[in-house]
Amino acid sequence: VSFAEHMFRVDDGELQAAMKPVSCPGHLQLARRMALSHRDLPLRMSELGLVHRNEAKGSMHGLFRLRQFTQDDGHVLCSSDQVEGEVARFCASLSRLYGAFGFDRVRAAFSSRPEKRLGDDRLWDKAEQALMEAAKGAGLECSLSPGEGAFYGPKLEFILDDRAGRSWQCGTIQLDFFLPERFGVTYADRDGSRRAPVMLHRAILGSLERFIGILLEHSRGRLPPWLAPEQVSVLPVGPEQSADAERILEVLRQEGLRVDVHPGDQTLSARVRQAHQSSVPFALVVGEREVQEGSVVLREGKRQRSIRLEHAVEELRQRCAEPL
Ligand code: ZN
Repeated sequence: VSFAEHMFRVDDGELQAAMKPVSCPGHLQLARRMALSHRDLPLRMSELGLVHRNEAKGSMHGLFRLRQFTQDDGHVLCSSDQVEGEVARFCASLSRLYGAFGFDRVRAAFSSRPEKRLGDDRLWDKAEQALMEAAKGAGLECSLSPGEGAFYGPKLEFILDDRAGRSWQCGTIQLDFFLPERFGVTYADRDGSRRAPVMLHRAILGSLERFIGILLEHSRGRLPPWLAPEQVSVLPVGPEQSADAERILEVLRQEGLRVDVHPGDQTLSARVRQAHQSSVPFALVVGEREVQEGSVVLREGKRQRSIRLEHAVEELRQRCAEPL
């Protein structure tokens, strides 16, 4: 409802249309066509959904606020006794995903029932308790925002702290007892009666564009190795080691690593510096002695050590692997 004033609308007298601002109605329409039974629950749907919101011009801000963006938008339809398990599952995958991007500190804020709300208090008691227990179960530090929940249910919001000490709200999970019913979504329960499922609205990264902005600020452009566009720079000391450098490049590429050789006209120290300034996490230096010994010099920032080539390959493979 609150998105209505921010929708891009088309109205030519015959056709009334709008660009979609959220994915919930689309997911509910899919669920309605599925004629659900209790055996189908929990039903988890998600998409990287392109959404549009007509934000005020003055509020546009780099990648942080756009009028068109992609959201990792998901919904779970489940029975009320499945809520706690689904929230716990979500909290666990959220902590894993944030950790992979180098965000170690995740806080949760719990928003309870607002003054104006749908439904009776018994339902709210149950919903709030389920969300709270799940957050605790996931080991999350949880602050309280009394009365800040949505009119249709309580919510958990997840806040990341970046290296500059700024806080960003990214993930959210919200409990909703009403939207499925309004869209005519029901499931056949064990006794044959039709019931409306509970709906969980969830996003981990939120707007992908905004998350990329936050990640670049947090990492100051030094992405974790698994995300770095170039993971390893191979640096032959002189032209005599060019062939060996190319051979090492091939070995690393076969391991699935993103590697380049930088022979260059510049001195070795200039090339080492450049690799570091370009935020390439690792450099391998290959000189005459290394070629004779079957070793390389592995550089990581200012640290460096001599290591056997096969050990370097194994270490780089592990440290550049996707963590998820
Ligand atoms: Zn939703």
